[in-house]
Amino acid sequence: MVEIDDIHSHLNRTEVARIVRPTTVGEARDAVLTAAREGLAVGICGGRHAMGGQQFAAAGLLIDASGLDRVIAFDPIAGTIAVEAGIQWPALVAWLRAHQPGDAGWGIVQKQTGADRLSIGGALSANIHGRGLALRPIVQDIAAFTLIDAAGVVRRCSRSEEPELFALAIGGYGLFGIIATVTLRLSRRRRMRRLVAVTNVDQLMKSFDARIAAGCVYGDFQFMTDERSPNFLREGVFSCYEPVGDDTPVSAGHVELDEADWRRLYRLAHEDRAELYRVYRAFYESTHGQVYWSDLHQLSVYIDGYHRELDAGRATARSEMISELYVPRLALPAFLAEVAEDFRRHRVELIYGTVRLVERDDETVLAWARSDWACTVMNLCVTHDERGIAKAAEDFRRLIDAARRHGGSYFLTYHRWATREQAEACHPRLRECLAEKRRIDPGGRFQSDWYRHHLALLGMEAL
Ligand SMILES: Cc1cc2nc3c(=O)[nH]c(=O)nc-3n(C[C@H](O)[C@H](O)[C@H](O)COP(=O)(O)OP(=O)(O)OC[C@H]3O[C@@H](n4cnc5c(N)ncnc54)[C@H](O)[C@@H]3O)c2cc1C
Repeated sequence: MVEIDDIHSHLNRTEVARIVRPTTVGEARDAVLTAAREGLAVGICGGRHAMGGQQFAAAGLLIDASGLDRVIAFDPIAGTIAVEAGIQWPALVAWLRAHQPGDAGWGIVQKQTGADRLSIGGALSANIHGRGLALRPIVQDIAAFTLIDAAGVVRRCSRSEEPELFALAIGGYGLFGIIATVTLRLSRRRRMRRLVAVTNVDQLMKSFDARIAAGCVYGDFQFMTDERSPNFLREGVFSCYEPVGDDTPVSAGHVELDEADWRRLYRLAHEDRAELYRVYRAFYESTHGQVYWSDLHQLSVYIDGYHRELDAGRATARSEMISELYVPRLALPAFLAEVAEDFRRHRVELIYGTVRLVERDDETVLAWARSDWACTVMNLCVTHDERGIAKAAEDFRRLIDAARRHGGSYFLTYHRWATREQAEACHPRLRECLAEKRRIDPGGRFQSDWYRHHLALLGMEAL
């Protein structure tokens, strides 16, 4: 048995039978067939950032897709790139930079914010989103993919070939097979000016609308996390990216946060959130007007294991668990006011949070972007003992309830602490998705602890 865990929360320690890291599609296929012969369930991981056990099946075989990391074909006319699904964003962005002359050409449309070493297969399986102002989740950027199914057959999926599987596997958390290769749509690299303003949640949607009308493409609102301030979850730093002309130089020697700055911010986020906001706001304001490339500004610093440093000398480890809560855009101020009151009352330790926008996904079965939502990201500090974990579960459940009271929902890629009622109400097609998984993979070859949990939660184990 081998023990593994996720990268960010460290709350998913799991023992798997063994790990296989194929480096070709053929090897990945062989691994599935070997698991079938041995009667082992198969879990699939990429960058291991999901936080609810979506990538690990206890006692199963773990297929680590990170060795499938090659670029297969680049089509500069169509603006698409075919890659093996274990490739991670930094390698993909670097490949595109290295294989196009000059600065122009194609770049990625969107990726997750806050961390980079995440795989394209993981992005597709969670149907991720970035900080686009008018983008749907990444399904919009997927032209096609190949999937190794439970029988070891490589199936090509697109909107016209195996469209059902296309809609199930995107956002399907690895339950329909190994995504071996992905053809991703790109967008033209452009120069973008960062516009920074301090605003509050009452003005935020108007500000987003105005920036979108002015042509901005990316943006977010990083809100104040100091619970003692009257502006807790109200005021924040609003940054958007507006395309500028091709003759505008990209700022040389950007004012940027380096690793040491991030370590300081992480510490302040846990120890002095009033100071955190002052430092963060001053930094962002100093970057107003800087010009970035549309792909490169999406990359960010993430320090693996940063909590170990913060927890030195403590008896019990801690980490952050994330949640994304969605509400209709006009409901955002009321939702955040309610959350602020709840967090103060229950002494919730909010480390970091943003508001972003997402547009409705009407293609995938397990679509989480069921509407044009405002998306609130919440990073809460969790103490790794029974009491701390039970408290975190309660805190996140109340967050889901608050989002629901305003007609909203939550993202499945993080913790698995939602109740049955919450899961069914927020993800009305979850039952259908799990039933389809059983139909397509009747032997249950592809599994995860997240899958097993949801079968039990919905009472579908014995069906
Ligand atoms: C700090 C941080 C910031 C984040 N920010 C965002 C964000 O801005 N937006 C957002 O949408 N999400 C965000 N996430 C969530 C994260 O993007 C998703 O959990 C994503 O799926 C992780 O990708 P990964 O490569 O680490 O995949 P893993 O965690 O290894 O796996 C995730 C899922 O994908 C499946 N999978 C992975 N590779 C394959 C494959 N080749 N074939 C089939 N299935 C596969 C796994 O089985 C699992 O179900 C964030 C997470 C963290 C920790």
